[in-house]
Amino acid sequence: MKKYIKKIAVMTSGGDSPGMNAAIRSVIRSASYYKLESVGIYRGYQGLIEGDIVKMDARSVHHIIQKGGTILKTARSDEFRTIEGRKKAYDNLVKHEIDAMVIIGGDGSFTGGMIFNQEHGFPLIGIPGTIDNDIYGTDFTIGYDTALNTAVEVIDKIRDTASSHNRLFFVEVMGRDAGFIALNAGIGAGAEEILIPEENMGLDRLLMTLERSRRSGKTSSLVVVAEGDKTGANVFELASYVEENLPEYSVRVSVLGHMQRGGAPSCFDRVLASRMGVKAVELLIDGKTNLMVGQLNNVMVTTELEKAIKEHHSISKEILRVSDIMSV
Ligand code: ATP
Repeated sequence: MKKYIKKIAVMTSGGDSPGMNAAIRSVIRSASYYKLESVGIYRGYQGLIEGDIVKMDARSVHHIIQKGGTILKTARSDEFRTIEGRKKAYDNLVKHEIDAMVIIGGDGSFTGGMIFNQEHGFPLIGIPGTIDNDIYGTDFTIGYDTALNTAVEVIDKIRDTASSHNRLFFVEVMGRDAGFIALNAGIGAGAEEILIPEENMGLDRLLMTLERSRRSGKTSSLVVVAEGDKTGANVFELASYVEENLPEYSVRVSVLGHMQRGGAPSCFDRVLASRMGVKAVELLIDGKTNLMVGQLNNVMVTTELEKAIKEHHSISKEILRVSDIMSV
């Protein structure tokens, strides 16, 4: 039987991503629209264990849609990985008379949520918030579009320097297990080569491409590398390898790092977050639980949390082919 909910909670967990605030705002405003009470849980699961819970309403989330980061803060919690920690978290939800929860985070946060639901039967819905775009069940995660645009903007600037000095730049972008940012930013910024965790194109091919570029008269080049690229070499080792084998290139390395996580969310991420927040609250009102909200082909959809965690969001072969053709 459907259990009517009166009060919902929202939290951000794991790594932050631009657009999380827009998602918080959407959850709180949707709750208000449906005449539900709402609270914000600070610092993810750790804040829940410590009872860091604050009452919110439609007005508490004004002027945050354009802000990067998360007003609720985020954290990683080792204590939540224990049965005792999760029991404390549950007790706090009961104490605050919270009936359901929206978790904005990545697959780790969803795994924690799923285990919590199995132990305590507590209703929860996940919203995918991570710049890596590596979550199954959605074409886009909140923050990915912004991070991608940040990366392209910076790579364009590096290109100016590369061409002024006839240099070869290796630019490392975020993505330990997923090459979405590297591949798309690489194509968008016109990189000569793109190295991603999903594909091993081999160091020989890299040398070949660069050599061909040089012979065709190119005096500067850009190679975009994801943190977790398949060659197994980090960006500095790659640069040294190329310098040793192609001494005519003057090689430089630029690691973009955390700047890719910050900044105002793009309009795309704000709209995506707003749509996901509404859907999450409506699912909870409908008595649904253990689902992740996603957007596939511009339609809001749901995926079982378990599936979202286990399955892999693959890079399309078509976009890999485009990148291949562009590096000719
Ligand atoms: P990102 O993709 O940005 O890293 P994430 O949500 O995957 O985000 P994690 O650090 O993996 O980030 O997970 C966030 C939190 O979820 C952890 O700190 C922990 O509290 C909880 N969590 C993750 N895995 C488990 C698990 N197996 N059991 C219980 N809790 C977990």
